[in-house]
Amino acid sequence: MSHNVTLIPGDGIGPEISEATRRVLEATGVKFNWEIVNAGADVVAEYGTPLPDMVLESIRKNKVAIKGPVTTPVGSGFRSVNVGMRKALNLYTCLRPCKTYPGVPSRYDNVDIVIVRENMEDLYAGIEFEKGSSEALKLIEFIKDNKKVEIRADSGISIKPISVFGTERIFRWAFKYARDNKRKRVTAVHKANIMKYSDGLFLAVGRKVAEEYPEIEFEDRIVDNMTMQLVKNPSQFDILVCPNLYGDILSDLCAGLVGGLGVAPGANIGDEYALFEPTHGSAPKYKGMNKVNPMAMMLSGVLMLRYLKEEKAADKLENAIAAVIAEGKSVTYDMLSPDKQAAAVGTSQVADAIIAKMK
Ligand code: NAD
Repeated sequence: MSHNVTLIPGDGIGPEISEATRRVLEATGVKFNWEIVNAGADVVAEYGTPLPDMVLESIRKNKVAIKGPVTTPVGSGFRSVNVGMRKALNLYTCLRPCKTYPGVPSRYDNVDIVIVRENMEDLYAGIEFEKGSSEALKLIEFIKDNKKVEIRADSGISIKPISVFGTERIFRWAFKYARDNKRKRVTAVHKANIMKYSDGLFLAVGRKVAEEYPEIEFEDRIVDNMTMQLVKNPSQFDILVCPNLYGDILSDLCAGLVGGLGVAPGANIGDEYALFEPTHGSAPKYKGMNKVNPMAMMLSGVLMLRYLKEEKAADKLENAIAAVIAEGKSVTYDMLSPDKQAAAVGTSQVADAIIAKMK
């Protein structure tokens, strides 16, 4: 059987790591019909938008997509293509496994944390009021009248909605993932002591959903304490369920615990569609240099193979990546200590080495 998959190369380092990933995925023996479409700054001139309809249509048709990173201009220009896709396709779960592979330079050697981040709500819902705008001033008036709180007139405001519906949905997803993957414990991350009506709701709903899964242990941590505990003893954690903002921050923290962004995969998953992509961005300064690590996108490919129920191929590719890391001969600069940098290989040579391990 062959799988129809949308491939979005992205920009910056995206096209190089996408090509390396396509090659290793094909080398597993699984058959793919790739539909290649692109998004981001590079397509604006042609389509008038960084997220052309044909990209979303392709994903809706194929149901599964794998994507390289896309640059988002800071402060001006278009809103993030990534956020746009997650919203348009209702990809409410962001899955970010953070696992140490022997041989990766890292402070820890036995981390295996899965971050399940809510992708649609919280401070990333996109409800923002610009400083001095008539809407911001009206909102400030409303808050003064109704909450007796004075907000300075020169404030910008971002709203943090967290719903029962969205929270039940993400906890159910996480507990089902725990059950399907034989994981033992789910930890809810929050700041419910301060934000009682948003994070407090998140925690209360999480506790309720946990009752439906008695075989899985449930606990919670306040987010600031969580960051400290992750740095001190990350091996104690299993699955973390986080609202959007904390999930974003903790994903990068956990990527750092297991060797950095070069080995941190991700997936955005909804009930109908799934989009697989590395956690890292487009690293524009390395564009076209055949230098960066393709493993984060390849490991996102491993997640995609598991989603497609190609478990054997997923194990084969993950084992080949792990073997190349353990050997340490065909790895990029980010996987080597400063004194060994001269031995680093390029992006496409990493793909060659992984393909050789699968033969
Ligand atoms: P970045 O992740 O692109 O790069 C930060 C640094 O991490 C790089 O300079 C490099 O040193 C290192 N790095 C990243 N990926 C690497 C890899 N595969 N191998 C080796 N080293 C790697 O973060 P940034 O510079 O903050 O963002 C650049 C652009 O990417 C921004 O426009 C941002 O909005 C965008 N971005 C996109 C996505 C996405 O498409 N999902 C995610 C994050 C950031």
